[in-house]
Parts: sequence; C-alpha cells; structure tokens
Amino acid sequence: AMHEASHSGRRYRSYNRRSNEHSLYTVELLGELQSALDDGQLSLHYQPKVNLASDQVMGLEALLRWEHPVRGRIAPDQFIPSAERTGLIHSLTDRVLDLALADIARLRAEGLDMPVSVNISARNFLDPGFADRLLEKVRVSGLPPCALELEFTETALMADPDEVIRALRRLTEAGLELAIDDFGTGYSSLAYLKRMPVTTLKIDQAFVRQMLEHPVDEQITRASISLARDLGLKVVAEGAEDAATLARLRDYGCNAAQGYGIARPMPLEAIIAWAHDRGL
Ligand code: C2E
Ligand code: CA
Ligand code: CA
Ligand code: CA
Repeated sequence: AMHEASHSGRRYRSYNRRSNEHSLYTVELLGELQSALDDGQLSLHYQPKVNLASDQVMGLEALLRWEHPVRGRIAPDQFIPSAERTGLIHSLTDRVLDLALADIARLRAEGLDMPVSVNISARNFLDPGFADRLLEKVRVSGLPPCALELEFTETALMADPDEVIRALRRLTEAGLELAIDDFGTGYSSLAYLKRMPVTTLKIDQAFVRQMLEHPVDEQITRASISLARDLGLKVVAEGAEDAATLARLRDYGCNAAQGYGIARPMPLEAIIAWAHDRGL
C-alpha cells in the first residue's frame, strides 16, 4: 500500500542515520513488548486540554507509557513505529483501549466526566475488525460512547480511503468523537480533511512550540486555526509550552490548547489530584 511504502521509506532513511546498535535495540524491544503486554508493564498517562476562552478542562489525552523492569521508562516513539510495522500494534491498541476505558470509569467515579482521547494508528484502521471490536469494548464498559475520542493522523486514509471513511462513519454514528492529530505534517491534508467525518483538528506541536520565535510557524498555526474554524471544526493546539504562547493562541481564536504550559502528562491518580486542585 502507498502508505506502507512511504512510511517504511521514511523509517529506512532514519535508520540509516543511526547506528546498527540502534536497530538491534529496536528488534530487542519488540520482542520484549509482547512480555510487556502480558506482564502489565504498560499504562496510560493523561494530559489535559484546556478551553482557552473559559479556562475549563475540556478533555484528557491518554499517552502510552512502558515501564520496563530493567530499562526503565521507554518513550512511545521508541516502540510504536516498530509495533506498527510488525502488526503488534493491533494487540497494543486493544490494550490501550481496555486501559483507557477502565481509567475513564475511575475518572467518572471521581466526578470527572470529560472525554478521554486515545491515539489510534493508521494501521488499526486497515484491520477490518477494528471498529467492531472497539464498539463492543465501549458497549461492555457501559460508558457513553462520547466519553471516548479517537485521535489519528491523515495517513490513516492513505491505503484505502473509502474503507477507512466507512469505518470512521460507523464510529461517529455510534457517538464517538474523532480528531485529526498532527495536522499539517501529513500528506494531502486538505483533500482528506474534506472527506473525513471529524469534529476536531489538532495542530502539531512542531508549529506551536516555538511559534513566538519563528514567524513562519506562527503563520502556519494561525492559518490552521482559521481553516479549522471555516470548516466548522474545533481546533486544539498541541505543545503550548508557556503563558505567552497560550495568550497568542487565544487571540487567534484557537478553541483549546494542550502542552507543558498547562500540564505535563501524568499518571491517572496524579491527574485526578490535578483536576481536583482546579476545583473539578
Ligand atoms: P502525539 O499524539 O502527538 O502526542 C503528543 C506528544 O507531545 C506526547 O508525547 C506529549 O507528551 C508531548 N507533549 C505534550 N505537550 C508538550 C509540550 O508542551 N512540549 C513538548 N515538547 N512535548 C509535549 P509522548 O507521550 O512521548 O508521545 C509521543 C507520540 O507517541 C504521540 O504523539 C503519539 O503519536 C504516540 N503515542 C502515544 N501514546 C500512544 C498510544 O497509546 N497509541 C499510539 N498508536 N500512539 C501513541
Ligand atoms: Ca495525539
Ligand atoms: Ca499530536
Ligand atoms: Ca505526534
């Protein structure tokens, strides 16, 4: 598939720049990821998204963490790409969904009923059973489908746009929220954006993080905000690291922001305490 080809092309180039040791490390990690799944070494951390007009927390993003018994914490960027290439991503995403649904129930028991978003790989949408499995998990959890939001990149549509759009339609019709992640970094953004039944666009942190130092980043961020608004989408800026960036995003009419300037991702119990501290 087109996506696989360009994706692996990119990986190949980045591996060339690294040492042999690094790819060996990746192979080893992948073997260990199966035991991580079996031994409960995976958990989710949560980062809040805040509405810039009202300062209210409008949702949480679930971010995967691997606590390796020997190597310590391993960042998702170090194992998710290999899990995507090998197909292990299917069991990994299933696990992430199980963890997220359990955590959402705990959040609600604490009076925190904001939507939680989960990252879904492009590869997951190529699995014809994916949407059904996901909807069944939500049904069994007894939670309202709107408690769960899915974040995915435009590359999800590259391989089989019609098939993927059908799956996305089923998910929105069931009541799930859908968000385009890393907007501006993928391929053919605008053409796909028009066809996707999404409600939210997330501007990639690559544009937001240093936008006050780099005018081009700021222009891209500003243009993405107005594009999203013209299309009737909610827009969330990622990677807002300080108060000045948050203020500028608010001036541009960005709906919400996420970033170290608000809070870092944190374990479930810590995010519950953080939310309670804010009076939630
Ligand atoms: P992402 O979906 O774009 O997630 C945002 C990343 O930016 C997170 O990194 C988060 O910790 C980081 N971040 C948030 N605010 C700031 C900020 O102000 N400054 C900076 N410098 N960084 C910030 P993390 O947790 O390391 O995740 C990296 C990527 O791994 C994610 O990027 C996502 O693509 C992937 N990922 C994480 N969890 C999952 C998962 O459960 N499933 C899948 N398929 N992918 C995941
Ligand atoms: Ca994300
Ligand atoms: Ca992102
Ligand atoms: Ca990203």
